[in-house]
Amino acid sequence: MSKILVAYDGSESAKRALTEAARIADGAPVSVVSVARPLPRFGRAAEMVVPEEVAEREHELEEAGSILAEAGIKATIVERKGDPAERIVDEAEREGADLIIMGTRGLGSGKRLLVGSVGDAVLRRAPCKVLVVP
Ligand code: ATP
Ligand code: MG
Repeated sequence: MSKILVAYDGSESAKRALTEAARIADGAPVSVVSVARPLPRFGRAAEMVVPEEVAEREHELEEAGSILAEAGIKATIVERKGDPAERIVDEAEREGADLIIMGTRGLGSGKRLLVGSVGDAVLRRAPCKVLVVP
């Protein structure tokens, strides 16, 4: 395994994705990306993200950093804004990630059958393997 990207939204499922990344990294570089999304009525416009959302994502990323640090991994922390799935896929391409690890569920309503809408969209567009953790 050479490069791992974890998509993190602070949910329990995403925490398990982090733990899995720590378990399989075996010295490989790990990055964690969190995407601040615009308020729903503003579509995908990255400039319409409210500061509260950015602050929340930053807080989650700090938490992710310490979870990985406890496992002895110094991860690269990546903050993005816009459509979560698009930004996660962009980041995987930019880094040349070999594996994206994410949760099946997130912070959303969780009404979907198998995975949430972000998980679903990443699975369709990812440039690499995707590990989806329940
Ligand atoms: P929905 O958002 O469709 O209501 P959900 O919140 O239950 O459903 P998803 O959002 O698809 O499910 O979450 C699945 C996984 O995608 C999460 O566990 C996390 O790994 C990743 N993810 C979701 N949103 C973000 C985000 N904004 N930034 C980074 N990763 C995310
Ligand atoms: Mg969600």
